[in-house]
Amino acid sequence: MPDPSATSDAPVRPRLRFAPSPTGYLHVGGARTALFNWLYARHTGGQFLLRIEDTDRARSTEASTRAIFEGLQWLGLTWDEEVVYQGANLERHRRDGERLLAAGAAYRCFCTPEELDERRAAAEARRETFRYDRRCDRLPVDDVERRVAAGMPYAIRFRVPAGTIEWDDLVHGRIAFPNKDIEDFVVLRSDATPVYNMAVVSDDIAMRVTLVMRGDDHISNTPKQILLYRALGADVPGFAHLPMIHGTDGKKLSKRHGATAVADYQGQGILPTAMLNFLALLGWSPGGDREIMTLPEMVELFGPGGLQRKAAVFDPQKLEWMNGQHLSMMPLGELLPRVTPALVRAGLTTADALAAQPEWYAALVDLLRVRARTINDIVRQAEPYLCETITYDPEAVAKQWKDPAASAALLEASRDALAASPSWTPEALESALRALAESRAIAAGKLFQPLRVALTGLTVSPGIFDVLVLLGRDRALSRIDAAIRHLR
Ligand code: GLU
Repeated sequence: MPDPSATSDAPVRPRLRFAPSPTGYLHVGGARTALFNWLYARHTGGQFLLRIEDTDRARSTEASTRAIFEGLQWLGLTWDEEVVYQGANLERHRRDGERLLAAGAAYRCFCTPEELDERRAAAEARRETFRYDRRCDRLPVDDVERRVAAGMPYAIRFRVPAGTIEWDDLVHGRIAFPNKDIEDFVVLRSDATPVYNMAVVSDDIAMRVTLVMRGDDHISNTPKQILLYRALGADVPGFAHLPMIHGTDGKKLSKRHGATAVADYQGQGILPTAMLNFLALLGWSPGGDREIMTLPEMVELFGPGGLQRKAAVFDPQKLEWMNGQHLSMMPLGELLPRVTPALVRAGLTTADALAAQPEWYAALVDLLRVRARTINDIVRQAEPYLCETITYDPEAVAKQWKDPAASAALLEASRDALAASPSWTPEALESALRALAESRAIAAGKLFQPLRVALTGLTVSPGIFDVLVLLGRDRALSRIDAAIRHLR
């Protein structure tokens, strides 16, 4: 019995790749492309590959390659096979270019760059667009042989056949390019180095890529690439060209719009899960109004049906909001290890001090995260609970301690009521303060607001009873005393 899994009819598992050029940091557009490829691969049980397109020696840097790895690792977009470096495959690119020549799909072009420049300038002077006129394709065979034998340098040019190149783009639907608009393009330069499209197709064939998903700034390369696949006798992969990303002003996203590097958002305390969720919606929708998703949910829901054509809008405020949602839903066990280093960096505490009171620390972060959009917000709000002394925010003082004598009197009464409470729990403290408010016939808020300033120095904090419990009896009472002294 033949092994059925060994037949060539076995379904091919999708293979996708992210192919960044290491010429800068990992920007949000690149990360979006990486994520979509990764989600598609994970959704279909396929493979996600990484190729570093480092053939532009002058612009590629090792630091940039490292930044790409670090950005992808921070997001958790791991790749399934060893990283492919395009620059290591120049020999194969050259062989593939020569195969085109041997198969009669390409021809030698002896025109020098100077000659081509001259003809281009002449065409422009006539207000015509320059297109290579195929003169070297008309050279007699013996002439070509003579030039080769004489060691004349030549490039290899692809002979674009008549017809139309069409494909069903996963995003845009049917796309057709008339071949007459494509000039006979060079595949190997006279120094035998491949042009970009030659290298990409040679690598995508070698990596057995089945679906090319990339930014739609590459649409115009696709007809040439399809011609190369066919001429090399390879299967043409599927294509999905993802929409551009714009700023909220409708213009192409650029540094003018603020941070565009993934690492900047990492530095701002954005969670990778929120970043992924936000990036996923730049050109894809799971349907309905659904927005907040975990990574496993995105993997489950992701499919070509939700890919969108219209430009996506990058709104940093939406990212912050989304981050707040993810902060609230993340298991505390995952959140705390992210908050701790930020608190330590801010000089508010040490990791040992937090480890000595794990329950208290967990309760603190659990309360603070509700009002936070970023980890940095949590750090800012945590200060009153971690430091011995507090400073009074001038705005809070102006608003809640308008009449110092009256505020001091209210604080004194609150202090006595709290000190007399039989236990230091939210419930007991609440009934103590509510009884006080009732006995004075004032709204409870009139007590809570000045008290909040006395305890935290701020106008916003978790609920006042939670604040009292987090601070503990001694610290809370001595802060109220200090505020009374300050006001008098
Ligand atoms: N290296 C190209 C870029 O960074 C991507 C090429 C491709 O995906 O085909 O834009």
